[in-house]
Amino acid sequence: MNRRSITIVGASLAGLRAAESLRRHDFDGVITLIGDEPHAPYDRPPLSKQYLAGEWGEDRLALTGPEKLAEYGLELRLGTRATGFDLSRRRLTLDDGEDVDVDGLLIATGARCRRLPGTEDMDGVFVLRGLDDSSALRSALDAGPGRVVVVGGGFIGAEVASTARERGLEVSVIEALPQPLARVLGEEIGAVCAEVHRAHGVDVHTGVGVEAVDGDGRVERVRLRDGRVIEADVVVVGIGVVPNTEWLEGSGLEIDDGVVCDATCLAGPGVTAAGDVARWPNRRFDEVMRVEHWDNAVEQGAHAAHRLLVDDADAEPFTPVPWFWSDQYDRKIQLAGRIRPDDEMRIVTGSLDERRFAALYGRAGRLVGVLGFNRPRHVMRYKALIEQGVSFADALAADV
Ligand code: FAD
Ligand code: NAP
Repeated sequence: MNRRSITIVGASLAGLRAAESLRRHDFDGVITLIGDEPHAPYDRPPLSKQYLAGEWGEDRLALTGPEKLAEYGLELRLGTRATGFDLSRRRLTLDDGEDVDVDGLLIATGARCRRLPGTEDMDGVFVLRGLDDSSALRSALDAGPGRVVVVGGGFIGAEVASTARERGLEVSVIEALPQPLARVLGEEIGAVCAEVHRAHGVDVHTGVGVEAVDGDGRVERVRLRDGRVIEADVVVVGIGVVPNTEWLEGSGLEIDDGVVCDATCLAGPGVTAAGDVARWPNRRFDEVMRVEHWDNAVEQGAHAAHRLLVDDADAEPFTPVPWFWSDQYDRKIQLAGRIRPDDEMRIVTGSLDERRFAALYGRAGRLVGVLGFNRPRHVMRYKALIEQGVSFADALAADV
């Protein structure tokens, strides 16, 4: 496939890794990386952890240095938003009014936070996605608020609660499901997470939704559906994300909770997608998925970039074993694979009581997942077994 140029929209993890991969595959055409944030590509995981804690400065967030950027010879257009794309004319529209002809296009526009209706302009209410969000929240935490209320017990909620609590602040978490992180980890493990937070002094409310966030210009309290009221100086809303696809409406590409791709990450002729924004059928799990985690952005960015360089006949499916970590207090939680509530679960080392264990998940006789609390070595070894497609029985018998 002989391409003159490749345009990448979204200058973050997937976009940058895509650009690097193109150069690694000796692509010597023009690479343009377009991003709407003013910052050079930076890493997001520390935004809820070390950076928010005040332990790291902005300088430690950079995903690459100016020398590397120069070496890749990227045309970097920061502070520039793509507002439209026309697949038939292969034309991209930017918010500065310019139209750009594209040859290859890689979409890596990620996702943005859902907001709680009515809180959009209220002082003291925060979401957390980008560097500016984290800097604003960090300043609010520096001021020593009396109580931080976290709405949503997902990853943002759990990590912000942990960081704020370790800064010595009073923290409440409100989660509508019976347990935090229950959707991803299941209720039994979600209960372990809740206990970890309670053991660190967090006030965890589960099984109850938020009725309203009240305040006259500035947040004052959170009212729960069961009538309880929690006073709040800072509210952090972590209720999930929506993929950034509005700019692709009417483009000719299929959009359905993300950019719909085939198994090779191709969304249309000469167009691929990667990272939080991409939905594709992962043949290893026989499941159409959109993965909102760091490792997937790295791997899919590289895969989707290479896909633009090969002919259809040579294209390989993208079949990763998805993997993530989450740091909460002194626990490192890691999950590799895909787990569902009705999977068979077996603890293979440690125990839930110790909150240090590795659990394996089996489905239809196959090993499909491994979850670890402070068991990084086990997670990586069992992840390799998932990649090898071993049976659940063989995984349970394996000497890991
Ligand atoms: P993004 O990082 O969302 O980047 C997309 C970029 O595209 C953004 O810069 C966006 O502004 C830009 N953009 C959007 N629309 C346009 C447009 N129209 N034109 C131009 N630019 C546009 N994962 C883990 O596995 N472990 C962790 O511990 C972890 N911690 C996290 C902590 C936080 C606070 C957050 C927010 C995420 C965390 N993640 C973690 C998830 C991980 O960071 C994401 O999965 C990853 O950033 C996805 O990368 P991406 O490049 O696909 O999208
Ligand atoms: P998330 O992990 O999807 O969790 C959102 C939580 O909020 C869920 O428990 C959800 O419950 C709940 N919720 C949804 N709507 C709600 C509402 N209206 N009121 C109250 N609760 C509601 O999303 P997140 O925690 O906001 O994280 C945002 C993104 O950052 C995700 O992509 C996440 O993967 C990423 N991130 C990842 C990490 C990590 O991997 N370590 C760390 C931080 C952030 P339901 O399930 O019932 O909807």
